[in-house]
Amino acid sequence: MKSILVTGCNRGIGLGLIRHLVREKNPPKHVIATCRSIEKAKDLQHIAAENKNVHLLELDVRNYDEYDNFSKKVEQIVQSDGLNILFNNAGVSSKFTRVQLVKYDQMLEAFKVNTIGPVMLTKALLPLLKQAAQNNSDKPLGANKALIVNTTSVLGSIALNSDGGFFPYRCSKAALNMATKSLSVDLQKDGILVTGIHPGWVKTDMGGSNAPLDVDTSVVGILELIRNVNESHNGGFYQYDGKQLEW
Ligand code: NDP
Repeated sequence: MKSILVTGCNRGIGLGLIRHLVREKNPPKHVIATCRSIEKAKDLQHIAAENKNVHLLELDVRNYDEYDNFSKKVEQIVQSDGLNILFNNAGVSSKFTRVQLVKYDQMLEAFKVNTIGPVMLTKALLPLLKQAAQNNSDKPLGANKALIVNTTSVLGSIALNSDGGFFPYRCSKAALNMATKSLSVDLQKDGILVTGIHPGWVKTDMGGSNAPLDVDTSVVGILELIRNVNESHNGGFYQYDGKQLEW
């Protein structure tokens, strides 16, 4: 792949993805790492200073009005190559709550970041993804052509929900799963694959210290998965180790 854009790279899985991408044997020509504040993103600044292929762009995924301007900045980086991979990683969660304690603001915030952000960002970057797919029309569908990864969660699975609660997070990720499926249908004709990936339960600020997986294990699995993604993964729901999950 020539180019990848990952949202929410200040910490956690997003930062881990950038760390691993720059260490690959054949790293992408452009690694575009977005964060809400470059000034505060010290680890990213350090990576960008040492790796000329890393570009830092600011993006709060709730600022939909800025998406057009943002996509112009991405275009200036990738130019006529287009964008091979859009990796929607930025996400929010809130405390586990039962229905008696659910708050309107938490529901709204979860949908803004976890669901609406990935859909609207896909829309804004679609011309660049299409460009990459066209430029690589001789290649098989996948990461070397054009791919959208939506970072979802097993907590967004309706089939696997036996514990209830967690309304903002579960509902926003379930809605993201539906968006993944619809995007995969809509964009198939353009040669763009779309897949949902659950990173596992990972030790990050969101996953907490009891999580069984470290960031490196999750990220190594995710990168292996996206390198090998093919038509059979289109519109599917997979976890970091390649296992398919039930919707
Ligand atoms: P973290 O809480 O560690 O990091 C979240 C990242 O998202 C941060 O970089 C944060 O930026 C960014 N972010 C939050 N809100 C916004 C926003 N409005 N605009 C732009 N960026 C934003 O979470 P993880 O790394 O663990 O999670 C990454 C993804 O993986 C999420 O989508 C999450 O739902 C998913 N996931 C994680 C699991 C886990 O166990 N950790 C399990 C299943 C799914 P900032 O630093 O500026 O706050």
